[in-house]
This record gives sequence, structure tokens and C-alpha cells, in this order.
Amino acid sequence: MHRTTTRKIRVGNVEIGGGAPISVQSMTITDTRDVEGTLVQIYQLATEGCEIVRLAVPDQEAAAALAAIKPRSPLPIVADIHFDHRLALAALEGGVDKLRINPGNIGSRARTRIVAKAAKERGVPIRIGANIGSLSKAMLRRFRAPSAEALVESAMEDVQVLEDLDFHDIVISVKASEVPMAVRAYAMISERTQYPLHVGITESGTAWAGGIKSAAGIGAILSSGIGDTIRVSLAAHPVEEVKAGFEILKSLGLRTRGVQLVACPSCGRAEVDIIAIAQEVERRLARINAPVKVAVMGCAVNGPGEARMADLGIACGRGMGLLFKDGKIVASLPEDRLVDALMEQVEVIAREKAAATA
Ligand code: SF4
Repeated sequence: MHRTTTRKIRVGNVEIGGGAPISVQSMTITDTRDVEGTLVQIYQLATEGCEIVRLAVPDQEAAAALAAIKPRSPLPIVADIHFDHRLALAALEGGVDKLRINPGNIGSRARTRIVAKAAKERGVPIRIGANIGSLSKAMLRRFRAPSAEALVESAMEDVQVLEDLDFHDIVISVKASEVPMAVRAYAMISERTQYPLHVGITESGTAWAGGIKSAAGIGAILSSGIGDTIRVSLAAHPVEEVKAGFEILKSLGLRTRGVQLVACPSCGRAEVDIIAIAQEVERRLARINAPVKVAVMGCAVNGPGEARMADLGIACGRGMGLLFKDGKIVASLPEDRLVDALMEQVEVIAREKAAATA
């Protein structure tokens, strides 16, 4: 897939843009003032593969907590700042790796300048996070209603403020909750800038509905070659955001983390309970990090074909199934042995892949 060339920036040890792998971000939902609780959640996110974590900084106490969290965090930390530029200054003091500011609500341009100067001194990048729900009054007056154009203009004005200070470690997001508006906004801003883009659909909803909406929106944007880092915003535990993020990237062939499961939807031809088998396989594969493609298919129509295209596959018949490895049949097994046999082979491949990359 062709990718739009963007400038590379660095957030802690993670690169964004300039051809770096598209990174997956999330945001903690703990009270940032609760240092231990926040660190537990950061570790949960890191275990799921999250690469950058953002923390809300609603007050000075939360900003002060960053100094305690940062040295113990396995992930680069982004401080999320609204309304008060002094919180951004305190977060920088705490050693954060990136700031997210929403210039629509940070106050005057002079305040953005103060923050940018302090970030520049420390070599900390800034994300200009324009959001459809918090456009400035001036922007709403100018465009009459929230729109893709208003989002892009808002972000570009703030980019100009930073550039005037010779500040170029910039990431931009133009998030809307409506997918067509977000898709348009990202397409427009990509035409106007080479700064890396953080892609997401804001306030997308619950894990189920929001996951689908995010897949449609983020998927459409990434498919057009736009986007350098993603966050799936869900009203759910943030671990679900990371899982959804990787599923989107895996399904587009942009990242290979963990198992990619192909499962047939089942139909009247299936002679085994393929839905139960697929669910059990998915549950048991969740802890595997190696990039393995597994196919679970109900019958002989598409089963052998899909199973052959995967690293491992099962194609079922009446109360039994064929186990495929690297396109070849390696066993014919009764239904109740299928999942165990598949998992044994997944472990073998995972170990082989781990050894090959060690
Ligand atoms: S693979 Fe077979 S059982 Fe599964 S959906 Fe296709 S035809 Fe139906």
C-alpha cells in the first residue's frame, strides 16, 4: 500500500512518520494523580502491545504525578492538556515525551507560544489535536458550523504559530465523530502538510459499535495512504482500544502482531459447531504474540483453500477436520481433538518465529 511521505518525529523511543511502522496509542482511564493505579494500567496496555500512552492532566496535582510515573513507565508518555497552559509547562517539568494540546481551548496564541518554547528547549514534540467538539468560537463564527474545513483550518493556524517559533516537531490530528467528515478532514490536511498525522475517530462509542465505526473511519483513512499513528477511542477499558487498533492494522496488512484469524461465518453446510470452535481458537490464541495466520473453516467449499493460504488451518467435515500446515494436510482428526492439535502447532510456529527474530 502506498503511504504518503511525512516528516519523522520521535516520541521517547518510538518514531512517528517518515516510514516508521504505524504505532498504536491509547489513553489511561485512571485518575492520573493515582500513580500506582495509573502505572498498573500502563503496564496492562504495554502487555497488549500499546506503543505510546496518553494521560489526562486536568490539574496541577495530576501534572506533578507525571514526574513519579514517567521514570517507571515502560511506554513513552503523552500529557493531554486542555484549558491551562501552565499544566503543559508542569508536564514538561515532569519529563513527558510529548504534549497534546488543543489550541482551540488553550487560550491566547501567546500561551501556545510559551508552551512551544518550553517544549523546544527540551526537544519534546507537540500534537496539535483539533477536535470537532472543541473548535474555538472564532473558528465556529468563521465557518458557521463544525466542519472538516474548520477542523483543518484550526489545526493549520496552530501549526503556523509553532512554525513561527521555528518549532517543527509536530504531529497533527483532526478528529471528528462522523466518519465521512473525519475522512475528508484527514485527506485535506494531508494535502497541506508533511507533518505526521495521528488518526482517530473521536468519541466513537462502545467497544462493539465504536470498534466498527473506528475500523470504517481509520481503515478508510489508512487505506488512502494517510496516517502515521492511530488511537481507537472506545467507551471501554483501554486495552480494548489497543486490541482494536492492531486488528485494524493487521486487517490492512500494515502491521503483523499476534495471530491473524480467518474464520468462516458458518452456514447450513457446516457439519461441526464452527462458531464454537472459532471462539475457542480466538480465546486460546489471545496470548500468542507471534505473527501467525490461522484459518478455521467449516466445510470443503472454501475450507481447504483458505486453510492452505494460512500458516495453519483446519477444514472441517462431518464430526472431523483436516489440519493444514504450510498448505499441506498434516492430520485428519476427530472434532474434539481439532483445537488442541491446532494450538500445539501454533506454539511450534510461534517458537520458530521467536527463534528466527532472536
Ligand atoms: S466454509 Fe463451508 S461452512 Fe463455512 S461458510 Fe463457507 S460453505 Fe459454509
